[in-house]
Amino acid sequence: MAKATETVLEIDLNALVHNYRYLRSRIRPETKFMAVVKAYGYGSDAQEIAMCLQQAQVDYFAVAYVNEGIALRKAGITIPILVLHPQKVHFKTLIEHNLEPSIYSHAILEQFIRTAQELGKLAYPIHLKFNTGLNRLGFTYADLPKIYTATEAQHAIKVKAILSHLAATEDRNETEYTQLQLNRFEAICNKAETLFGYKLIKHVLNTSGIINYPNAQLDMVRSGIGLYGYGNDATIDADLIPVVTLKTIIAQKHTIPAGESVGYNRKYVSKKPTVTATLPLGHADGIGRQYGQGNTFVLINGQLAPIVGNVCMDMIMVDVTEIECEEGDEVIIFGKKLPATEFSGTADTISYELLTGISQRIPRVIY
Ligand code: PLP
Repeated sequence: MAKATETVLEIDLNALVHNYRYLRSRIRPETKFMAVVKAYGYGSDAQEIAMCLQQAQVDYFAVAYVNEGIALRKAGITIPILVLHPQKVHFKTLIEHNLEPSIYSHAILEQFIRTAQELGKLAYPIHLKFNTGLNRLGFTYADLPKIYTATEAQHAIKVKAILSHLAATEDRNETEYTQLQLNRFEAICNKAETLFGYKLIKHVLNTSGIINYPNAQLDMVRSGIGLYGYGNDATIDADLIPVVTLKTIIAQKHTIPAGESVGYNRKYVSKKPTVTATLPLGHADGIGRQYGQGNTFVLINGQLAPIVGNVCMDMIMVDVTEIECEEGDEVIIFGKKLPATEFSGTADTISYELLTGISQRIPRVIY
């Protein structure tokens, strides 16, 4: 990759394919693979990521909202797309774009059936979402007879799949709770298949689930973060490659004496003569003020430079007193050489939040 000449988000599609093949290698060949590309492909570029994965023969995509699914259809995605939280007002457009809804309440189910009937649909595929312990969205076991009655009485929709989401697959101290959720889901699936009288596509595992609970892979897995190169675990990370790298350049250097402050609110005061470098990105780009607490470093010419002072909207200052560097030199904020997990950890947050927060104003460079 050429050296950065401005702030850019580089996206390495070879790394993406590597991660996909690696995760696939951890499941049975017949298990379907759903790639989660919501939130702009975890902050990267959902269309590019999805086109690449479609070519690599992924089975399914998942997005959060209908507009995200429509963007994928417009980009040329032809394989099934699950919409995890479709809003009722968008049901018609969801159907017009051949997207599959995740349905999690009776009211939503009734509304979806009405919309499918109005559009003259027959056996339109839906996924039923069950709450097994995340306590966020979903039907419960006790809802099954009513769901069955509502779907039996019509022909516009057909239940194709059944899913749940686990609360703590990455946490080895929570295996008991995860197992409880898996047991609840198994009971729900058994009852549902008995009621409906046919096999459903059953899916419950996310990335850490694929690694830690392979016996629960069922018919399909849903992976997001692993595709982008992170596995919520150092041993898994070792087999994955970060897909995105956020880079910028040194806009200007300043030499300041001891006792001088840097940035808004005079939060940082130099203890000795100091050289700072100003970088052209800030909290409007997804690097929030929590990264200005003195614990976060960026990489300049192979050396770590701490962020000093409050992060500004479009700028960050770093201490480069001990680093040989010039204006225009490349700076790595995070990526292959400085993992997002490490960078986000310094501000007590997670790679998911860091990645999905990267501003859309930063140019994406695909290679
Ligand atoms: N399934 C659902 C319902 C999700 O909300 C998410 C992510 O938020 C995923 C799967 C993918 O999880 P991960 O990125 O940990 O693989």
